[in-house]
Amino acid sequence: MDGKMKTAVMLGIGKMGFEEREIPVPKENEVLVKLEYVGICGSDLHYYETGAIGDYVVEPPFVLGHEPGGTVVEVGKGVKHLKVGDRVALEPGKTCGHCEFCRTGRYNLCPDVVFFATPPVDGVFQEYVAHEADLCFKLPDNVSTLEGALIEPLAVGFHAAIQGDAHLGQKAVVMGAGCIGLVSMMALKARGVSEVYVVDLMEKRLAKAMELGATGVINGGTEDVEARIRELTKGSGADLVIETAGSEATARQAVHIAKKGSTIVLVGYSKSGDMNLPTSMILDKEITLKSVFRYRHIYPMAIDAVASGKVNLKGIVTDIFDLDDVQEAMDQSVSRKADIVKAVIRINGN
Ligand SMILES: [Zn+2]
Ligand SMILES: [Zn+2]
Repeated sequence: MDGKMKTAVMLGIGKMGFEEREIPVPKENEVLVKLEYVGICGSDLHYYETGAIGDYVVEPPFVLGHEPGGTVVEVGKGVKHLKVGDRVALEPGKTCGHCEFCRTGRYNLCPDVVFFATPPVDGVFQEYVAHEADLCFKLPDNVSTLEGALIEPLAVGFHAAIQGDAHLGQKAVVMGAGCIGLVSMMALKARGVSEVYVVDLMEKRLAKAMELGATGVINGGTEDVEARIRELTKGSGADLVIETAGSEATARQAVHIAKKGSTIVLVGYSKSGDMNLPTSMILDKEITLKSVFRYRHIYPMAIDAVASGKVNLKGIVTDIFDLDDVQEAMDQSVSRKADIVKAVIRINGN
């Protein structure tokens, strides 16, 4: 497809703008996708506010956004499983396929991954993208491209639940009710965990957690989290704790509320980069510590969970902004953190 497309670019810290770029041409193994919705992720906001995450430093103009859903409009010669008009969720990371990690099925650990919106690789706050067809997953008729965009964070939630071996009969606690906390809660429920309690400081987020199926919520600011969990688990503690808040306080709390022999999955990155944990208690309780880096081959399962009604994925969205209002979308997502649980950019006026 010849022509130009609108691309939203980060021009500097706190500053967005637009560029006209060529519509990309799909290679033999790629499809061209007309993007419809792209989620705004915590990492996009972090780049926007600070210009970097660890060693990844933004060189403007830089394109943010790695949670895309859209419709296939052109298909490369070698592509068999997709056709024009298919609606797809795009997995944002291309891996090498040859390294030890790729070969052992842990491709999320591939050192040569090329991932949308991770400097220097541009993201997808733009009208079109050419992407490897194998990383584009067809959505069934009853799953929208808005939900398609949200499959990316949901995949993180499922990976966390799987790392924690979540299963029927357990009582689990999720620390944090942001997007990743909510999708983790929903993934735990979808995997049959009997009771899932969610802890956060913000009332609006806790209300969202209840709306989306949490068994109960605890306000960590006004309630004694440890006492409440003791009460809810008849003194034994949680079978599984998923830590998504990324603060030392909540990570320490996770150890305190975990049952002996249980598992804690660390998902949230701490702002300072490190945290001190009560290691003696971890040893005394023989706690298994697991962690999560993105996800691996979870899109088909996540899409199925949405299609079958096990996960109310669009329920996490609180705000939708047009691509033209991307500056507003980023600024409000930063300044109204208590209100905006999950914002999404709508592209092409869909
Ligand atoms: Zn993300
Ligand atoms: Zn690899």
